[in-house]
Amino acid sequence: SRLGAVELGPVVQGALSLFGNRLREEAVGVELALPDADAESGAPLRVRAEEVRLEQVLVNLLSNALDAVAGAPVRRILIRAEMVEKGDGEEGDAVRIEVRDSGPGIAAEPVGQIFDPFFTTKPVGTGLGLGLSISYNIVRDFGGVLSVAESGPGGTAFVLTLNRA
Ligand code: ADP
Ligand code: MG
Repeated sequence: SRLGAVELGPVVQGALSLFGNRLREEAVGVELALPDADAESGAPLRVRAEEVRLEQVLVNLLSNALDAVAGAPVRRILIRAEMVEKGDGEEGDAVRIEVRDSGPGIAAEPVGQIFDPFFTTKPVGTGLGLGLSISYNIVRDFGGVLSVAESGPGGTAFVLTLNRA
């Protein structure tokens, strides 16, 4: 497998940099909170993944977040990572990466169908409805989980839980 130890910070920056123009033009504020793995040594946070495909997942989530905040009175995106315990009895830490937006929330019931291939609520010709299903499969290949942590009128939060490397 091509899975390895991927430094999280540069991947997040890489994904964000693709949206630089849109973020500026649409006046979307971005807040980033990415801790080091070790506060004393400054060792960067690394996750078990494949760099290009992890960036693709983040690009998909950011693209959706930008679409979601487009018509919203407050346009903010928050990307936050933290170390957590996996809590499944296995050894080893996990990293929880949250991508949160100030959009209107998910307009699908049940919410879970947004991960189905070709499910989209966007106008014909704009959304293919593949971003989340592809992302879900990529994260599963990494041994991680992609899920919706929160969705409501205050916004939506997707959470990506990956193994720490
Ligand atoms: P697409 O973006 O092409 O529609 P996705 O698979 O990326 O396909 O997303 C599927 C659907 O999930 C979207 O059409 C939308 O209804 C919903 N969705 C995804 N992300 C968000 C979000 N951040 N806020 C609200 N709805 C979302
Ligand atoms: Mg999408």
